[in-house]
Amino acid sequence: MHDHRKLGRELGLFDTDPLIGAGLPYWLPDGAVVRHTLEEYIRDAERRAGYRHVCSPVLGKRELYEISGHWEHYRDDMFPPMDLGGEQVVLRPSLCPHHAVIYRSRSHSYRELPLRMAELGGMYRSELSGVLGGLTRVRAIQLNDAHIFCTLDQVAEEAAAALELIRSAYAAMGISAARYRLSLAGEGGKYVAAPENWKRAAALLTEVLDRSGLEYEAVEGEAAFYGPKIDVQVADSAGRESTLSTVQVDFHQPERFDLHYTGPDGAKHRPVMVHRSIIGSVERAVAHLIEVHGGAFPAWLAPTQLVILPISDAELPHADRFARQCLRRGLRAELSPPDRGSLGARIREARLVPYQVVIGAKEAEADLVSVRLRDGQRLDAQPAEEFLAGLGDLRSSVD
Ligand SMILES: [Zn+2]
Repeated sequence: MHDHRKLGRELGLFDTDPLIGAGLPYWLPDGAVVRHTLEEYIRDAERRAGYRHVCSPVLGKRELYEISGHWEHYRDDMFPPMDLGGEQVVLRPSLCPHHAVIYRSRSHSYRELPLRMAELGGMYRSELSGVLGGLTRVRAIQLNDAHIFCTLDQVAEEAAAALELIRSAYAAMGISAARYRLSLAGEGGKYVAAPENWKRAAALLTEVLDRSGLEYEAVEGEAAFYGPKIDVQVADSAGRESTLSTVQVDFHQPERFDLHYTGPDGAKHRPVMVHRSIIGSVERAVAHLIEVHGGAFPAWLAPTQLVILPISDAELPHADRFARQCLRRGLRAELSPPDRGSLGARIREARLVPYQVVIGAKEAEADLVSVRLRDGQRLDAQPAEEFLAGLGDLRSSVD
C-alpha cells in the first residue's frame, strides 16, 4: 500500500500550509472532484434507502452539549468554547445533538418511524498537533452521518440495513473491511451510567451481527460514551487499524433531549436513536482510497476518467470535438495535445486515467477511437459513439 500523505501531494489531491494550520488540509481541484463524487454517491445511496437530508450549523451553544453529555464525557476532544455576547458557543464535536433537536422541533407519529435523518456535515476535533498528518488525523472533519429515530422493534432491521449500505459502498469503492468489531464499554468514567440500556443495546447489536453471518470480535473499552457500537475497521499502509464505518444504538440521547412519538394508543413513547455512518469522515475515506488504489481510483471516482491523445496536430480538431462530446455526457475528459510530448510520454503521464483514447489519422478519418486501459490492455478501434454508449455515465459503477 501507498502512503496517502506522499501520494496525495504528488497527485495534486490535497495539501497543507502552516499558515492555515496543522490538521487543516485543503483540497486541490482533483481532490475536490474525488471528494464531491464520493459525497454525491453517499447522498444518492441514502436517498434510495429512504433517508432524508438536513443541513445544520457547525456551531452550537455550550448548553446543547451539556444536555447531550458531550460536555461531560467528551470535552477533552472539543475546541475551547467561544464567548459571544454573554453566552458560549462551541464548534460541534458531532452531529447528533443538532439532529435530536431537529427531530424534536416537530411532533411525530409512529407512522413516520423509522425516520431516517442524514447529513454530510462539518465537525471539529481538537487533535494535538503531534498526531496530525495527511487526511487521517484532522481537526476539521466532513462527517457522513445519519440518525434513525425508530421503535425498539425496528432497531435490528435498521442496523442490518445500515450494514448492507456499508457493504455495497465498500464494493463500489473497491475497499474491504479488515475486521468487524463489537465495541463495548470498558472500565472507567467516560461512559454514561445506565446499565440496563447498555445491556439492551449490546444485545441488539450482537443479534444483528450474529444474523448477518459476519465474523466479528467483541472489544471492551471502544464504545461511544452513550452506547455500544459496531465498528467496521480498515487497515492503513502501516497495518494500523482505524474505524471507517459505524452503527450505534443509543437510548441515552432520546432521553436527554426528551424525544417522543405518538403511538397507536395515542400516548407518547420514547424513540431509540440508531447512529450510523457509511464511510465515516470523507477525509479518512479518501485517505484510505488513495492508499488502497495508489491513486488509480475506480473509474467513477477518478478525477479524470478519459484522457484524449491526438497523435499529431492534424487530429487536434477532431480530438477536441470528441473531448467536448465526452464533457456533454457528464464524463470527466481531458485533452492531452501533442505539444505536451511524445505519445509515449503523454500515456505515461496519464497512467492513472482509466481510459486513454488515442486518435490518429485513421481514427479521425472514420470517427473511431483506439482505447488503452490503464493496465495496458488495448481495445480494438471502434466507433466513438459506440465506445461512449458502452461506458454509460460512469456514475458509481464498479470498474
Ligand atoms: Zn450520532
